[in-house]
Amino acid sequence: MRDAILSETVHPVKTHDHDPATGHLRPPGREFKARGSFVERCSGCNLPRLNCLCPYRVTARSVARFWLLTHPLEHHKPTNTGRLIGDVLGTTEVFTWYRTVPDSRLLALLEDERYAPFIIFPDDQPDYADRVVGREAVEDAKIQRRIPVFIILDGTWRQARRIFRKSPYLDGLPVLPLATQRLTRYRLRKPASSAHLCTAEVAAELLRQTGDDAAAAVLDDYFDAFNDSYAASRTHHKLERPTVAMQRLLQRKERAF
Ligand SMILES: [Zn+2]
Repeated sequence: MRDAILSETVHPVKTHDHDPATGHLRPPGREFKARGSFVERCSGCNLPRLNCLCPYRVTARSVARFWLLTHPLEHHKPTNTGRLIGDVLGTTEVFTWYRTVPDSRLLALLEDERYAPFIIFPDDQPDYADRVVGREAVEDAKIQRRIPVFIILDGTWRQARRIFRKSPYLDGLPVLPLATQRLTRYRLRKPASSAHLCTAEVAAELLRQTGDDAAAAVLDDYFDAFNDSYAASRTHHKLERPTVAMQRLLQRKERAF
């Protein structure tokens, strides 16, 4: 059948391009599409092919690491920014959170003395105030030659709270609130407040605040490239030229070769 369509003998106008009610030709590509469902996506970056992110993917190194504990409903959302952290920092670990069955690999890592894990979470509730630490605890970990690890609960605000409250294996860990004046630049979902940062922004801010400035800059640029590429594709608009952040990533990629 495929060959028949390609052969010269098939009439270029196929019957399903006609409106069955009127017999008139349908304008091409005008039928309504549910958001995202029929968009052709790149298998590399999972973004719509129109503005693929792959050319801008660059890696960086950092002292601190990230372990993401991702809510199952968040995992496959193409607008999830947690995966951008793993693209930039190869040491990133991603675990799916299930309320009843903790990930055994995560449990083993939590026992590993080489790492100093911190849960990134706000300090707005009194019942765990005794676990709250400041950035100096990250410095102390480095002095003790342990690798600081930021555990980010990746999901909506509600989901993150649920993960925090319903994961007994996290109960002994220090809680590091992210203190920042930064406002979100995320354009793909409407935040409840512009002070609510998305996962990649939280990671970039943590890197910057704890001395991994170069990695923070790369992640920020990569996040901006993702944001701009995705937002443009939503309006079926192809970016004419790389944005400033994209240009910096391309230059970095050139220098790496
Ligand atoms: Zn791609």
